[in-house]
Amino acid sequence: MAQETIFSKIIRKEIPSDMVYQDDLVTAFRDISPQAPTHILIIPNKLIPTINDVTAQDEQVLGRLFTVAAKLAAQEGIAHDGYRLIINCNEHGGQEVFHLHMHLLGGRKLGRMLAR
Ligand code: 5GP
Repeated sequence: MAQETIFSKIIRKEIPSDMVYQDDLVTAFRDISPQAPTHILIIPNKLIPTINDVTAQDEQVLGRLFTVAAKLAAQEGIAHDGYRLIINCNEHGGQEVFHLHMHLLGGRKLGRMLAR
């Protein structure tokens, strides 16, 4: 069994967050340490530790991450100028919280994709 992270507590509202969206499959809240004017994390309500753990059963929730990202980008007023979606995986990907999450970043030019 995968171990819960702080994100499960945020989903259950046991600890506070700046939550911007929640439905039966996903939850979205502002990152505690924003790297851009808009920095929202969109996460499955179900605990999936990393992208390596996804299965065919998760296709609906994974699709929902994208439809909610598009909805929130419009809501944040960044859809036209553009934004970046990032999902980090494990050590080389820079993943720190082992509850799969999509970063929605925007509100300024984000520059090149990878740091050298
Ligand atoms: P990762 O590096 O795993 O892709 O990203 C984890 C993200 O979660 C980081 O951007 C970090 O700032 C954010 N984060 C970690 N703990 C908390 C928390 O308790 N609340 C919120 N809102 N964000 C968090």
